[in-house]
Amino acid sequence: MAPTKEMNEVVVSKCYECGSTMEGKLENYRYTECGLSSVVLKNVLVFRCKECGVSQAQICDAAALHRVLACMILMKETRLSGLELRFLRKVAGYSATDFAVVSGTSKSVMSRWEHRPALAKQTDRLVRLICAHKLLSDILCEAGMPDADRDRLLEQARESLTNMEETLKRIQAKKKGRRPVQYEIDPVMLSRYGTTDHASVAVLQ
Ligand SMILES: [Zn+2]
Repeated sequence: MAPTKEMNEVVVSKCYECGSTMEGKLENYRYTECGLSSVVLKNVLVFRCKECGVSQAQICDAAALHRVLACMILMKETRLSGLELRFLRKVAGYSATDFAVVSGTSKSVMSRWEHRPALAKQTDRLVRLICAHKLLSDILCEAGMPDADRDRLLEQARESLTNMEETLKRIQAKKKGRRPVQYEIDPVMLSRYGTTDHASVAVLQ
């Protein structure tokens, strides 16, 4: 995008903790609010408070972001962690009780799964298939979703799900000699699937 006058404008917001002024600028942001330590939002508007030190990224459409992230996690080539299971379960809209019923287990076993660093082979596959199915059926059946949004989400689901079989064949215990998987999401990627456009962020680049 061509540089614009807005490039150098300081964006401010009111601190949700102490009420003083927060200044926003574009940076990479580790999005731990989603419950995972491995997600980095690239080039998002991050507001920081100089008084109390809190920071917050501007997320225009958390539901879209979480769906993009869920699709990335479904394609992961190493075993899911318990925290990734919990994230997928929540994006798919399952309570722990519902997920236990659907996966044919108990809530206490579910809780153990969610505290494991890596799921067992078959549990991993079961979790992915249940969550992929639920995400897809939500996209197909969600009432009131504009057609354009549904088309974009279906495109995303098509990319992830057509490769699901290959992913299932390839899942390894862990990647040898490589750092743990990190998920990076940039605004362009998000705007392809979001239900709101990210012009307010894009114009600042
Ligand atoms: Zn503050």
